[in-house]
Amino acid sequence: MIEVGVESIGFSVLQRDAEGTYHLAASRCPRCGDVRLPRREHCVNDGLACETILLSGKGRIYEAVLITVPPKGFDRPFWTGYVDLDEGVRIFAQIARAEGEPPPSHGQPVQMQPQEIGTRSVLAPVFFRI
Ligand SMILES: [Zn+2]
Repeated sequence: MIEVGVESIGFSVLQRDAEGTYHLAASRCPRCGDVRLPRREHCVNDGLACETILLSGKGRIYEAVLITVPPKGFDRPFWTGYVDLDEGVRIFAQIARAEGEPPPSHGQPVQMQPQEIGTRSVLAPVFFRI
């Protein structure tokens, strides 16, 4: 299993805490508080070395769309979109839709739970409505 980010940016965007729970790993500048996902070594505003923080995974859907013609690496339609996380960053990721659940839409609260997605079983953040 490959974690998302490893093949594209050289490191996983996920990180486990002491209990083994996965979180999105971001960076935060100790001076200006700028938060970035994926994490950066240095702040884009003042060049200071950033610290790694683990995000809550909670946020709200900004926009969602149903991908009806799956791209290479996916074998069925899925929902995806932008989620505004509570820590102030926006992420593009899959959004789960259980059978009988209404379509995802703007403003709905969500929680990230990593899932294996696609035909290569890449571990990636997926957002579930709460
Ligand atoms: Zn800064």
